[in-house]
Amino acid sequence: MTQTRESRAKLNLFLHVTGRRPDGFHELVSLMTKITLADEMVFSFQGKGVQVICDHPGVPQDDSNLAHRAATRFFTACLQKKIAVAVAGVAIQIKKNIPVGGGLGGGSSNAATVLEVLNTRSGAPFSFEQLLDMGRHLGADVPFFLFGGPALARGIGEKLTRIQNLKSRHVVLCDPGIHVSTAEVFGHHDFCLTSPGKYTIKTASNVLSKGQDIDIRRYMHNDLEAAAFSLYPEIRSTRDEMAHLLRRPVAMSGSGGSLFALFSQEKNARQGYELLCRRWNGGDKNIYLTALQNG
Ligand code: ATP
Repeated sequence: MTQTRESRAKLNLFLHVTGRRPDGFHELVSLMTKITLADEMVFSFQGKGVQVICDHPGVPQDDSNLAHRAATRFFTACLQKKIAVAVAGVAIQIKKNIPVGGGLGGGSSNAATVLEVLNTRSGAPFSFEQLLDMGRHLGADVPFFLFGGPALARGIGEKLTRIQNLKSRHVVLCDPGIHVSTAEVFGHHDFCLTSPGKYTIKTASNVLSKGQDIDIRRYMHNDLEAAAFSLYPEIRSTRDEMAHLLRRPVAMSGSGGSLFALFSQEKNARQGYELLCRRWNGGDKNIYLTALQNG
């Protein structure tokens, strides 16, 4: 018996670093939304234990894979709570379409999909809150992927507020072909570098929380760009060239290095996508035409 699921990527439409906790983790305010770009996951419920097969050379297939860790955590929680599950084992095949180490949350998305699929398959022994709690232990972005729609994330990304009425946008996305280390980028963040400031964060957060209309392109921002650009100068040069060619703001997602621009018209987004494909044809960069998934 198999089941196929899409596991979507996310974008940080804005990301402000607001502080550092005593344990070293950075606190953020970020507007996150899923996009239509997705990995394909095929679940086979057979045998015992957990097995992961992935077609991407940069993704481990052992128990360090986030999908593997999510499944193991799920089965362990069942054992601890003495929950008799319908499935004793799962083999998970992952076809990667989301760039790896690109700030698009591919691994976290896979983990969230595993928790959802196993819970449903087992007759929903865990509540949504319990799944969120499992997700938190797997990674800061996992709760967002369980959450569903666009959200304002605070804390280290785990405190989520649902955002209604975020306008749909078409997205031209570029993976510059650089595997970015999230830990290194956070480690290089300079708290002295100014961000648009508390006022902007507050305004955007208030307007968004009330479900009012907002042109999100005015608020695109990422405090981690400075650190990512200094570690990987090619991300900056790609950002500059992309902004020049598309004639609009371009921002980095998460800790990088994926870069995106937003369009209200599909036709214009497609033209921009084709322009970048022609410009960077044959190189390391990958270009995608995708869209915000606001539902
Ligand atoms: P983060 O900022 O959370 O590290 P990211 O979006 O930049 O995430 P991911 O694609 O999630 O990047 O990959 C980050 C790292 O996690 C990579 O080094 C990758 O090898 C590892 N990894 C483990 N499991 C997975 C998975 N299922 N899919 C993708 N990467 C995974």
